[in-house]
Amino acid sequence: MTIAALIVAAGRGLRAGGDVPKQYRGLAGIPVLARAIRALAAHPDIATITVVLHADDDARFQRIIGPHVGGISLTTCHGGKERSDSVAAGLACIRGQGADHVLIHDAARPLVDLALVSRVIDAMRKTGAAAPAIPVTDTLWQGSKGTVAGVVPRDGLFRAQTPQGFRLDLILQAHQMLQGAATDDVSAARAAGHEVAIVEGSTRNIKITGPDDFALAENLLGKDMDIRTGNGFDVHAFTEGDHVTLCGVRIAHDRALSGHSDADVAMHAVTDALYGALGAGDIGQWFPPSDAQWKGAASDIFLRHAVEMVAERGFAISNIDCTIICETPKIGPHAQDMRENLARILGIDTDRISVKATTSEKLGFTGRKEGIAALATATLVKT
Ligand code: MG
Repeated sequence: MTIAALIVAAGRGLRAGGDVPKQYRGLAGIPVLARAIRALAAHPDIATITVVLHADDDARFQRIIGPHVGGISLTTCHGGKERSDSVAAGLACIRGQGADHVLIHDAARPLVDLALVSRVIDAMRKTGAAAPAIPVTDTLWQGSKGTVAGVVPRDGLFRAQTPQGFRLDLILQAHQMLQGAATDDVSAARAAGHEVAIVEGSTRNIKITGPDDFALAENLLGKDMDIRTGNGFDVHAFTEGDHVTLCGVRIAHDRALSGHSDADVAMHAVTDALYGALGAGDIGQWFPPSDAQWKGAASDIFLRHAVEMVAERGFAISNIDCTIICETPKIGPHAQDMRENLARILGIDTDRISVKATTSEKLGFTGRKEGIAALATATLVKT
């Protein structure tokens, strides 16, 4: 059995508030869609992941999620008007990838766990079609004009969840035969005459629809939240030259910074803050100054190494705050460029990065214009 995962993320989802579709909004520091993808990528039986996007979201997806998650390359395709159109587009994309089974999951369910996915896979293996659900325990009322008009028997009623699992040929044919739209893939399979097994869902596997759901999901995540903070500090002396490089931005100046690499004191502080949060030493340990290959090196090599290590250890960067201490050059006019450059390297939004500057009131070595100091704080969140 070769299993493909299909994640449906083509909706606009603005009901949850804000002007960004809900699947791209951060949930305890990590976008909802990234959490959904990671949850499925973590399951050892899932071979490929295809994400169905809204046609307007390609750039947003690449910026926020990127080309691969958890060592799995992501395939993307564009969805249609209704959810069932998007699933059909995704299934067409999966066809020919070598999978014989598919798990179809809503991007809005980021808290799905491995045990639930395993239950769906086990049942799908036996029956060809299976989906998770939770028995309804609340009393169900029929309402009319604001009053209770009757009670609906809840025996045999379930709340449906995803991922829903199917033999690929079965669900492909069901979607081809579908007349009109189906609210989920179980409906499509049943309309084509297939039985669908119910497996035990999870109360944590909530669907994020409105603002309250974000708060509930963050509470649920809070139980196993792991947040790390690190700091970094660096100093480089001025020497002769015509520019300095700070956070990767070249700034014309009547002095240069002296150092083994490009002496980007601010980027070094940010890099050390990331290493610090991981308890993983510092730049000097990973890139010894005694090693000639780092002479004159652009410091983004060091920062990218730290960023990769953050991801490998299962963390996401929540925010960075960097303060540059000098009398000259003026930092303010370049701060936005520095934030954007760091955002590109770190793979996070610019509004999660702060670059600011202060003088030391002409006191000390920075006050005497002998060099520049920088300090940085990084916060990481376990994903
Ligand atoms: Mg340094």
